[in-house]
Amino acid sequence: MIPEIILIIVFVFGLLIGSFLNVCISRLPESLSIIRPRSRCPKCLTPISFYDNVPLVSFILLRGRCRHCAAPIPWRYPVVELVTALVTALLFFKWVMTPLWLSAALAAAYILIVVAFIDFETMMIADVFSFVLVGLGVVACWFNPYFTGPFLNRLFSCFMGAISGTFIIWLMAWLGTRIYKKEAVGEGDIFLMAGIGALTGWEGVVSALIMASFFGSVYGVSLMLAKKARRFDHIPFGPFLTLGAVINLYHLIRITDFFMWY
Ligand SMILES: [Zn+2]
Repeated sequence: MIPEIILIIVFVFGLLIGSFLNVCISRLPESLSIIRPRSRCPKCLTPISFYDNVPLVSFILLRGRCRHCAAPIPWRYPVVELVTALVTALLFFKWVMTPLWLSAALAAAYILIVVAFIDFETMMIADVFSFVLVGLGVVACWFNPYFTGPFLNRLFSCFMGAISGTFIIWLMAWLGTRIYKKEAVGEGDIFLMAGIGALTGWEGVVSALIMASFFGSVYGVSLMLAKKARRFDHIPFGPFLTLGAVINLYHLIRITDFFMWY
């Protein structure tokens, strides 16, 4: 049993990382430095004091508004902090006995969270994130629990993951363009799948795509029911792909698992 105090430390660590990921999500798409200047209220430009910058807690105490001008703080801030803390805690407890893979999985999950929220807000996935994921997958392949055998076999599995990811989603993009007569999958998604494949292999590619299609459809249908989107309105696919990928970093869902439910 892991004592509660460790649970609290890991969760708080996750909240702090989440706070940093929020800065990345806000500033990286605008090519701004993520180190300086200190965070400001985007409306009144007052720098945010440290006591108003405590993850999750400040949002609740300030009731989601700037202390100075009462401009609403976007919901994304507490959501990213909470999601990052939960993902950190789950990955920590699952992989604590394999610290190398734990570090790789955490790094990958943090990049995926940034990608998901940037894609959600701007409909863009910067290829640099995908290339970093591929690099991480190659470095991690010799201790990746989803690959087996000697080093060359593992490298081959990593390679096959990246190639199959790129190929399958490229095929989906091509078919989508044929069927709907417009771009159904973004170019950014293609490189993102290479990164996901390098980390979780071809099986991770297949199940991430199945999960993403499912989550994406549920989201699309809920939007339509809420009358916020019409059919064929563009819904970013990246956030759902990253969700599937993070699930696979925690526990690899293989294609055979889908059949075992029947
Ligand atoms: Zn303000």
